[in-house]
Amino acid sequence: MTERLFSFEYSAPRTNEALEKLKKAHYRLNPLKPHFCSVTYGAGGSTKEGTQQAILELSSGSTPMAPHLSFGNDPLLAIDELLKTYRSAGVSRLVALRGDQPSGILGRKTMTHANELVNYVRETTGDHFHIDVAAYPEIHPESETVDSEIHYFKAKVDAGADSAITQYFYNPDSYFRFRDLCLKAGVNVPIVPGIMPITNYEGLLRFSSLCGAEIPRWLDKNLKSLKHDKDSLRAFGADVVSDMCQRLLDHDAPGLHFYTLNQAMPTLRIWNNLRLS
Ligand code: FAD
Repeated sequence: MTERLFSFEYSAPRTNEALEKLKKAHYRLNPLKPHFCSVTYGAGGSTKEGTQQAILELSSGSTPMAPHLSFGNDPLLAIDELLKTYRSAGVSRLVALRGDQPSGILGRKTMTHANELVNYVRETTGDHFHIDVAAYPEIHPESETVDSEIHYFKAKVDAGADSAITQYFYNPDSYFRFRDLCLKAGVNVPIVPGIMPITNYEGLLRFSSLCGAEIPRWLDKNLKSLKHDKDSLRAFGADVVSDMCQRLLDHDAPGLHFYTLNQAMPTLRIWNNLRLS
């Protein structure tokens, strides 16, 4: 059987306290021997220093660290600098994104879409980095059609992406369907499901409506009825997400990428339910 890829994602810290929280989560999750851990990049590169600091500090450990990278309004020189810094620190993997659009930051951009960033990283650094890109089984909110979603996803792979991580979802059929369509379009890279543990009802609703992740009605109703009972909500959420992960693995998902939100426990709970070694 081919090796499954398990990875953890941390949110970029904006303060020293947040960096300490991230590290604490990492020290609890790292013994699970993930394939890599990634650190997000705030909208428009607004957490550039925080991302860099977390990546550089944790890169001395045993687990490969992968920074997320987007271009915002940055000049090419700034992207070059960042790539150089990461290379010198031994970083060999990154997640290339267009990035969320920060409110209030407008202006001329160096690039418009993630495929251009992938292309640029390949042009300037060759094969040094393993490049992950984002994929959207439930379709990116700005995409007009399923066909255009597949078309532009393929453009990122054709530009040189090695693998992809999906936006989170709670309907595994959306993932299976997306994967089939990609295969039909000749996209053969591993597409690893992004897994969002459920810890907070209101927060999940808010974030899901922004990023276009659908909460199925049955799940929404169950979570709503538990929203004032944090422990029960978390226990129920862990069961639901664990069942979904098991189904994904049973149907040949190449691995799982956990959005940890810098908390170890919700991910550990799912990990233990799945009896992953
Ligand atoms: P793109 O691939 O550029 O796609 C954006 C939209 O444009 C899609 O509708 C696509 O179909 C369309 N499109 C793509 N290429 C073209 C083209 N050449 N011409 C016309 N249309 C095109 N955001 C952050 O700010 N920081 C992070 O760290 C971060 N990490 C993420 C990690 C993962 C695993 C995922 C799934 C998302 C992450 N995001 C992050 C969110 C992401 O930045 C947003 O979803 C963003 O809106 C799109 O980024 P993208 O790289 O997918 O963009």
